[in-house]
Amino acid sequence: MKESIRKTILEAGACAVGFAKAEEIEAQAIAVYHKWISDRHHAGMDYLARHAVLKVHPRNVLESAASVISIAFSYSPGTLRPPALPVISCYAYGEDYHEVIRRKLTPVITTFRERFGGDWKVCVDTAPLAERYWAMKCGIGRLGKNGSVIIDGYGSMCFLAEILTSCSITPDMPSEKVCDMCGACVSACPTNALNNDGTINSSRCLNYLTIEHRGEWTGEMTETMHTEVGKNCLYGCDICQTVCPHNHNIQPTGITEFFPSEKIMKLDAAAVADMTHEEFSAFFKGSAIKRAKYDGLLRNALNILRRPGNTDILLPIEKTGGGT
Ligand code: SF4
Ligand code: SF4
Repeated sequence: MKESIRKTILEAGACAVGFAKAEEIEAQAIAVYHKWISDRHHAGMDYLARHAVLKVHPRNVLESAASVISIAFSYSPGTLRPPALPVISCYAYGEDYHEVIRRKLTPVITTFRERFGGDWKVCVDTAPLAERYWAMKCGIGRLGKNGSVIIDGYGSMCFLAEILTSCSITPDMPSEKVCDMCGACVSACPTNALNNDGTINSSRCLNYLTIEHRGEWTGEMTETMHTEVGKNCLYGCDICQTVCPHNHNIQPTGITEFFPSEKIMKLDAAAVADMTHEEFSAFFKGSAIKRAKYDGLLRNALNILRRPGNTDILLPIEKTGGGT
């Protein structure tokens, strides 16, 4: 049963699949997460604090869960946006992974339900599951000092997803492997956002500041976003991944939906600053970039465009006539 499930998921495009028993996560992992929350390193992502209780057991997501299947899908792009354009994180070059992975795994669990019976549920990022913990428990990767899970042969540019099932499947060996520990990610992070314990201080991280943060930046966040590197981020930051030796000389993804889209590869800040709400919705339909919302992406674009001496840029309130 296990190998047949693994084979079917790999055939759906995954690059790694592993299995673990669905049980309460270990006390030490819970303690690290609680400390991260109490240190406010989740910044404005309050849902992560709310999820702390739920993340403790996969049965909070699927009541009958007996097994967790952790799955990785590579999105490594093979080519980057031109250096003259501001950064868009590689994970957003292609179609929205939530939609793509769900589309790939939904027919897979329909087959499993027919063949093996029981309950099956696909989780792609939004469920309160400790995804990296389960990836390690299922033995599919090694833990990077930059907080990522690295899949041997595919690197860290991989989306994680899970299938929870009420079927009992023999677990794989958990992984306790770590990265090369070269320290390149910590040295290269321009904002000192990487903590010593492998967690991230989100309020300093350009991914958080340009994707998840709602509203204007304040205090230290503003200072970070007004640096040269902050002013070069349209959507996210990949520095701590691109410097990692585990991401060098690896095959680009074979998943066509994740291939870089021409319009995203050419997008510049001026084009974003020019978009109306309607144009934003149409342009980013099916793209993960809509996560930043219209106001967030416009804020990022204006931050890039507002350089000393450049006074031609409209403020959002001027652009939207006071609405948002
Ligand atoms: S994504 Fe960028 S800002 Fe965030 S931890 Fe990595 S290098 Fe630092
Ligand atoms: S850059 Fe070096 S320390 Fe950082 S995750 Fe990669 S191997 Fe580990």
